[in-house]
Amino acid sequence: MDVVVGGGVAGLSVAWRLARSGRPVTVVDPAPASGASHAAAGMLAPASETDYTEESLLRLGVESLRLWPSFAAELAADAAPAGAAGAHDWAAMLDYRTDGTLDVGFDADDLAVLDELASFMDKLGLPVERLTGRQCRRLEPMLAPSVRGGIHAPQDAWVDPRKVTAALLRAIDRRGVRLVRARAEQVRPDAVVTEGGEVVDAERVVLAAGAWSSRLADVPVRPVKGQILRLRSPRPLLSRCVRGLVHGRPVYLVPRGDGELVVGATQEELGFDTTVTAGGVYELLRDARELVPGVTELELAESVAGLRPGTPDNLPLIGPHRGLTLATGHHRGGVLLAPLTAAIVLGEASEPAALCSPERFT
Ligand code: FAD
Repeated sequence: MDVVVGGGVAGLSVAWRLARSGRPVTVVDPAPASGASHAAAGMLAPASETDYTEESLLRLGVESLRLWPSFAAELAADAAPAGAAGAHDWAAMLDYRTDGTLDVGFDADDLAVLDELASFMDKLGLPVERLTGRQCRRLEPMLAPSVRGGIHAPQDAWVDPRKVTAALLRAIDRRGVRLVRARAEQVRPDAVVTEGGEVVDAERVVLAAGAWSSRLADVPVRPVKGQILRLRSPRPLLSRCVRGLVHGRPVYLVPRGDGELVVGATQEELGFDTTVTAGGVYELLRDARELVPGVTELELAESVAGLRPGTPDNLPLIGPHRGLTLATGHHRGGVLLAPLTAAIVLGEASEPAALCSPERFT
């Protein structure tokens, strides 16, 4: 029996792939899909989330992005409503979209940063186009006239992480995974003890408790707070993910199929605090309005804060560690890295596994 502690996008992906390979699996989580995965924007944008010092992270992201279409198609097939036959519209089920990312800037310093990112992508052979302000507005007419230029990463994609975790929960249920809705209090190589005192015996324990992983084992994971907003629009304002450097301040807008526009995200080192603050909301809306003035007309539907599981080198911790198997520390890229995380735990990706090995910190 494999026992997975934590039912966010990381733990659920691992549990589903293990169950699919024929292993008996139990997931322990008091509130599955309620952590960072609930807050996340869902960008599958390897380059935009890295800088030129993070080549390993970029390589992991590119590899996971390559795995996403088959992961999503198989997930949708497993999660499809009972009785549904034939091919399922997996893209619609997960709001999976592949229209790329447009990164734009407002002043010379912003453009210099974007040019550096484009050179880094060129060096690694990733497709990228450099655009003038006018070309950016041709792609996205709602952009502010003050946008001076940008870069377009046509291969990037995005999903709705809430739809992904909902599908994963349906899929693990179909595959016979037992879900124990309780907090794990003790995690050992051969068992997990829950808050109610239940001892769940295990041949292998996978620790995937996101930012809370360091409360259960000696792992270098810390919470990194991110505040994020959901706006609602009667018709889509944008047709692709738009990221802005607004005089040095990063902000992004992610459009959903149903007219939702996600605006993110702050990055704060405040421990386990998930308060949504007036300052956080103000900064996000201020920068989003600079980027796309029309956002001020939209309904503010939701504000939430999530805790990213950060590590000292921003790379995830996946693999054996002191008798446990870790699947944590995904920081800003846990949705992007979900397919690769599961592949590493299943022993299907040896080169990426070496980059993510927790042993690098021992
Ligand atoms: P979580 O989703 O936090 O799940 C951890 C789970 O562990 C929770 O369900 C919790 O209930 C459970 N748990 C905690 N303690 C215990 C315990 N003692 N016993 C049992 N269970 C426990 N990533 C991207 O790839 N693209 C994005 O666009 C993106 N945007 C983001 C925006 C924001 C604002 C934030 C906060 C994050 C974003 N991320 C993004 C990062 C991504 O959300 C995380 O990397 C990812 O969700 C981590 O998944 P996880 O399963 O490890 O953690």
